[in-house]
Amino acid sequence: MKILIAEAFDAHLPGRLAAFGEVSRDMATLGEAEVLLVRSKVQVDGDLLAQAPRLKLVMRGGVGMDNIDAKACEARGIRALNTPQASKIAVAELAMAFMVAIPARLIEAHLSMKEGKFLKKDLVRTELYGKTLGLVGAGNIATEVARRAQAFGMEVLAYDPHLSEHPMARLMPSLEDLVAQCDFLSLHLPLTASTRRIINAQVIDRMKPGIILINTGRGKCVVEEDLAEALRSGKVRAYGTDVFQSDPPPADSPILAAPHVYLSPHIGANSEENLTRIGDAFLEILEEYAARKS
Ligand code: NAD
Repeated sequence: MKILIAEAFDAHLPGRLAAFGEVSRDMATLGEAEVLLVRSKVQVDGDLLAQAPRLKLVMRGGVGMDNIDAKACEARGIRALNTPQASKIAVAELAMAFMVAIPARLIEAHLSMKEGKFLKKDLVRTELYGKTLGLVGAGNIATEVARRAQAFGMEVLAYDPHLSEHPMARLMPSLEDLVAQCDFLSLHLPLTASTRRIINAQVIDRMKPGIILINTGRGKCVVEEDLAEALRSGKVRAYGTDVFQSDPPPADSPILAAPHVYLSPHIGANSEENLTRIGDAFLEILEEYAARKS
């Protein structure tokens, strides 16, 4: 079988996949590919599928399937599978890194010292201990965040209308009820019709003043203009985000211009260990696929 790796994965992946067939990293071979491997950049839509007449299997290394047109794949009989468990530790650790670094004022401390300043008296920190964390979306990644936050002595609440119970968090009846009680809010939502722009001016209005918001889910779940205004007014104390309206964010993004914003360039899934785990998951999928064929 011909396998096309369309995005950057673990350097050992081509060698590991070679047991299943001919591996290419050249998009010019799309027309011959039976199996296509993508992350979040390549859009697997009608246009791409039209150039891939032999395609039978799309593997998305990661969680969100918003770059895959599931209906178009189904119509062509192409299976589209992701690796839902692989990335949870890597993304949860990045959310925690924001949650630790922002109230610890670590980034300001570092930058000011590099500028020759020594702001020992000015850089007053706040602690995580005893604070309340709200999780929006309480799936795999959020559960790992909850586990870590509890180790810091935080109370963990969550809003997820698709769950009736949760092992690590107290479920709240509505998003509004959740945000009113939280010192920190961490977003772990897929991008769907119900989650797009879910964090907007009305929801921000219900938030506890001075809340810190962290987003390692999807940028389009937030109305950036509304959040930028809340950051300027101080209603939201800080926003740590790994995700944007597009990768990279446009130069005129309101979030880039807003104060108290801490950024990372969509690296949630980018740990060495996670890329190896994604490779392991691909191998499992391919083994099952090859067994079905024979
Ligand atoms: P998951 O499917 O395990 O959990 C998502 C949860 O969101 C589910 O429990 C679902 O019920 C809940 N949900 C759906 N609609 C909701 C709504 N309207 N309100 C509240 N909750 C709702 O997924 P996961 O593995 O935890 O990943 C979550 C998201 O994180 C992914 O969909 C993806 O968008 C994002 N992600 C980002 C990165 C990154 O690099 N930053 C990496 C992996 C995943």
